[in-house]
Amino acid sequence: TTMLFSKILKSGVGTALRFQSNAVAASARAATAVKGSHGGFSFDLTDQQKEFQEVARKFSREEIIPVAQDYDKSAEYPVPLIRRAWELGLMNAHIPEDCGGLGLSIFDACLITEELAYGCTGVQTAIEANSLGQMPVILCGNDAQKKKYLGRLTEEPLMCAYCVTEPGAGSDVAGIKTRAEKKGDEYIVNGQKMWITNGGKANWYFLLTRTNPDPKCPASKAFTGFIVDANTPGIQIGRKEMNMGQKCSDTRGITFEDVRIPKENVLIGEGAGFKIAMGAFDRTRPPVAAGATGLAQRALDEATKYALERKTFGRVIADHQAVSFILAEMTMKVELARMAYQRAAWEVDQGRRNTYYASIAKAFAGDIANQVASDAVQIFGGNGFNSEYPVEKLLRDAKIYQIYEGTAQIQRLIIAREHLGKYQQ
Ligand SMILES: Cc1cc2nc3c(=O)[nH]c(=O)nc-3n(C[C@H](O)[C@H](O)[C@H](O)COP(=O)(O)OP(=O)(O)OC[C@H]3O[C@@H](n4cnc5c(N)ncnc54)[C@H](O)[C@@H]3O)c2cc1C
Repeated sequence: TTMLFSKILKSGVGTALRFQSNAVAASARAATAVKGSHGGFSFDLTDQQKEFQEVARKFSREEIIPVAQDYDKSAEYPVPLIRRAWELGLMNAHIPEDCGGLGLSIFDACLITEELAYGCTGVQTAIEANSLGQMPVILCGNDAQKKKYLGRLTEEPLMCAYCVTEPGAGSDVAGIKTRAEKKGDEYIVNGQKMWITNGGKANWYFLLTRTNPDPKCPASKAFTGFIVDANTPGIQIGRKEMNMGQKCSDTRGITFEDVRIPKENVLIGEGAGFKIAMGAFDRTRPPVAAGATGLAQRALDEATKYALERKTFGRVIADHQAVSFILAEMTMKVELARMAYQRAAWEVDQGRRNTYYASIAKAFAGDIANQVASDAVQIFGGNGFNSEYPVEKLLRDAKIYQIYEGTAQIQRLIIAREHLGKYQQ
């Protein structure tokens, strides 16, 4: 399998896609087998994990990096890169094998995410938003829903999206107002969503709505999650939002006006939506942390190369101890962020509740991505502030990691709750 996969790596774009996917899937199965066989504490990656990492790394460095700055300027959606990532099996990694996917573990998918983010986090976010949109269906969909909606994504490079946030409610998810009312065999949905990644590109959405209008109804019963085809009449997609960074990613508001959704598209059942929407985060926060780590690693690499070339006062700036200490701090942060996301991913792959580790990883990696990108700009001096050099983009791109998938403050609320809970027991 390894050799087969290596051969695929070396082959060009034209290789039969199905063949590639099968090879990656076989590789994934082998990886699982190897992982299962070694016990105890180990930082070793399996050969197959190294191969996933290598495919993603090669793609990121050879195909994403050369065009990342152009996409940042044009803010165009990176269709050719997404198509290529799909062909290489680097997208939709979590989709189970019986739906045509690779069924990779969260850990393995995180390795890929870190590498994609190293190239451009705008591209990585567009790809990762598919995982976020899929996760409620992977975790809670019935067989027919999984086959139909996950299967579709493995047949062509289609996007999906996770529609939870609204103009009036982000952190306070229980404050969402989008209503779904049951009429016969359908639900009629009215409301507005905001900041939806892949909003204008998705083939289908995971949609969270309020089904019980009684304000006293607890969150655990008041909300319902749906799968919605994006071409359903009554869905109006807003303009592409112009964001500070990750500019090629597609972020939009979406309005739902008398949108009719068949009851077959309810996930689990009426009232189960809040838990479904929140439950996805345990599996999607480790990859977000992996993305932030990839960005931070890139900032560190760029700053280090620059510090070894740029001369002041007759020596390269890396020889000034003050600069070398900035690099040392950056290095510590990147290494620890990587360990944090790997731990969080590994915990959930073991079948354990990882909420505590996922929030630690997300909060820490989001914060250090910002610090490390800012330090990289500092090391570049005046050049760091200029868009001809790579690091100002990294600083703009980093900010969102402290905001989406639960802000830096919300992660601390969760960590504090989990931490104090242990002492109060
Ligand atoms: C580029 C981008 C992409 C996104 N993609 C998606 C997506 O695909 N799907 C989706 O559903 N959403 C998406 N979001 C939305 C994102 O998850 C929310 O913006 C985020 O959760 C914060 O919500 P908010 O913007 O309403 O801020 P608010 O909740 O209004 O928060 C404002 C500030 O108050 C702080 N705060 C709020 N409550 C507390 C508290 N209890 N204690 C301490 N501090 C608090 C916050 O940390 C923040 O600093 C995206 C956002 C952006 C910008």
